[in-house]
Amino acid sequence: MIEDYKPTWLIERIYHIKPADFQSRGFKAVLVDLDNTLIAWDNPNGTKELRDWLKEMAEAEMPVLVVSNNNAKRVKKAVEPFGILFISRAMKPFSLGIKRALKQLCLNKNEVVFIGDQLMTDIRAANRVGIKSILVRPLVESDAWSTKINRAREKRVWRKLASSYDMRFQDKLI
Ligand SMILES: [Mg+2]
Repeated sequence: MIEDYKPTWLIERIYHIKPADFQSRGFKAVLVDLDNTLIAWDNPNGTKELRDWLKEMAEAEMPVLVVSNNNAKRVKKAVEPFGILFISRAMKPFSLGIKRALKQLCLNKNEVVFIGDQLMTDIRAANRVGIKSILVRPLVESDAWSTKINRAREKRVWRKLASSYDMRFQDKLI
């Protein structure tokens, strides 16, 4: 079913979403994909905007937890500079990683939102668990062949979604 891939919201950039946007919707934590959502492969330190966003989230006491399919070593190295929690080997598009995250945070499904850049993995996993999701534009185009194949699949799913839903990226959460 095409609805399995439908994000709740589409937002241009992760740092366009403010802590108050999450709080007003009853979210108590934010789950995020790592690669191309939080950081780009060509800029592992992240942008200043991203570091500022993480600081804002920390100041608002809104936990950010990375849920990545990558291995623990790789994810740990990537998130260490930011001092945030993570789940590795999340098995997206399956529900394992998100379920582990909920357990770790002691939160219910309606208290978290998932932010990612891929319909086929991130959004599919969020919908499988039954949590709300935000699709963001990928930070950069990857040249990895596996990503290219995924992107071709994404495009087909995207076209189907766009025939039924408004799939325009917004500047802010409304
Ligand atoms: Mg990604």
